[in-house]
Amino acid sequence: MRALRDTATFHRVVTACPMQAHWLDGEPITHVLLMAGVLDRYRRFVVDGQPVVTGFAAVADAWACTNPSAGRGLSVGLLHAQVLRNVARRHIGDPAQFSREYDAETERQVGPFYRNQIAADRARIAEMDALADGIPVPPPNPVMARLFAAASEDADVFRGVVEIAMCVSLPQDVVARPHIAAKLAELDGRPLPPNPNVIDRDRMASLLAG
Ligand SMILES: Cc1cc2nc3c(=O)[nH]c(=O)nc-3n(C[C@H](O)[C@H](O)[C@H](O)COP(=O)(O)OP(=O)(O)OC[C@H]3O[C@@H](n4cnc5c(N)ncnc54)[C@H](O)[C@@H]3O)c2cc1C
Repeated sequence: MRALRDTATFHRVVTACPMQAHWLDGEPITHVLLMAGVLDRYRRFVVDGQPVVTGFAAVADAWACTNPSAGRGLSVGLLHAQVLRNVARRHIGDPAQFSREYDAETERQVGPFYRNQIAADRARIAEMDALADGIPVPPPNPVMARLFAAASEDADVFRGVVEIAMCVSLPQDVVARPHIAAKLAELDGRPLPPNPNVIDRDRMASLLAG
């Protein structure tokens, strides 16, 4: 994939992706820049219910970060800043209680966004490994696959997907809404439409080679 750094190769590959091809209509402001070396990191400062440090609060990326491809770091950071504000309001005068409560509220309100992203990334890596090894791709998460398929047909489901993408709601909560659960049930057992954006390994190799 390093060949993508070449502008002509980049254009050739993006042109072949129906959902991204229109990005090339814009005017580039730089040459192709590489994003690599991303890491998953998650830190806690309460162990077995006891703070290991007081008077300290890690917020946003200093608390946790993942692969940035979903573009949710700012949303997660803002959500986490609100958690910090609310806990500080209640416990600013009690450092140990502040640490415990900040840890618990971080776990409860923000942690699921981190864990969902990790799960999505692991599934994507398994998919890429299978393609590289020429073995069948593992089936996608059936609920999320139906949610994305339903989002292309139903405005409420689409809004739910946007809420998930923007970290306003968790997928677990969105799929439990009665209207959305009913839409997903309609797709139960039905073959899902193929993703038009998938380019197989041989085609990608020939696009990269020019
Ligand atoms: C390649 C890439 C693309 C991304 N794309 C998106 C996106 O499209 N949408 C999105 O929502 N998120 C995106 N993110 C994630 C987003 O940038 C971060 O989640 C967000 O910036 C985290 O905010 P933060 O305040 O925690 O940390 P930062 O934005 O990293 O801010 C920390 C600041 O602290 C400063 N600093 C560090 N050490 C010290 C020190 N000792 N003294 C004083 N200052 C110090 C740093 O210089 C920096 O300015 C992307 C991240 C990467 C790496």
